[in-house]
Amino acid sequence: MRLGMMNDPRRDACEEARWAAANGLDLLDLTIEGPGAALDQIDASTLRTILVDAGMSIIGHTAWYLPFASPFARVRQAAVECVAETFDLFAELGARWVNVHMTFSGGLFSHADALRWNGESFAALAELAVPYGLGVMVEHPPIPSVSIEDIATVLAADERLGFHLDVGHANVGDDKLEGLLNHFGSRLVHVHLSDNWGRNDDHMPLGAGAVNWPRAVRLIKQLDYDDTITLEVFSSDRDYLLLSAQKVREWWATE
Ligand SMILES: [Zn+2]
Repeated sequence: MRLGMMNDPRRDACEEARWAAANGLDLLDLTIEGPGAALDQIDASTLRTILVDAGMSIIGHTAWYLPFASPFARVRQAAVECVAETFDLFAELGARWVNVHMTFSGGLFSHADALRWNGESFAALAELAVPYGLGVMVEHPPIPSVSIEDIATVLAADERLGFHLDVGHANVGDDKLEGLLNHFGSRLVHVHLSDNWGRNDDHMPLGAGAVNWPRAVRLIKQLDYDDTITLEVFSSDRDYLLLSAQKVREWWATE
């Protein structure tokens, strides 16, 4: 298991990578988004040196609000292009997977339309990622009305799409964790962890909210998953992120 953090996109990505390395994390979940970590703000060669020197892995992350399900085809196409233009950098940094987020939009269009447009956008990205040696993984949203069947519909758009579990998102509304792992465990390629009280996606330290973490770790380990995990703990005092890392390592060793 390789455990890491996400860079705060308001800060310089190299500084964030140095902090992660100095604090013993194994992985940078690099989100490429403004206001401080947009594609043209990232110093790729310096970042690569930091990661290589620290022996850190990298996961690709893209903005959660890209409009993949806009009713406007040209807007969906632009969202796809905004992700595709990150592939070169992610490949250069040694990433294997890049995430995308299911999104929804208003208007008079149906939920089924939105699912189809998400799927079409992600299938296009899965194809565009091939020359870079990258895969595209789909993160499910913290929206209680989005069902396991909905996620299955989107993943069915292209068999190459990986499943990106977010345990915090799975806890918003009702507890979907076990159902998600039962349905998509064979396609699981990355995991996000953060805590909440089941109402909002609060990104709290692990143990500060309602998630049963020993159970969550057990369920993930039961799949023989032993790969990358990101702590999405966004507390302003990062001691809570490091305490969460310590707890995950303990649970991973004992559960
Ligand atoms: Zn997440």
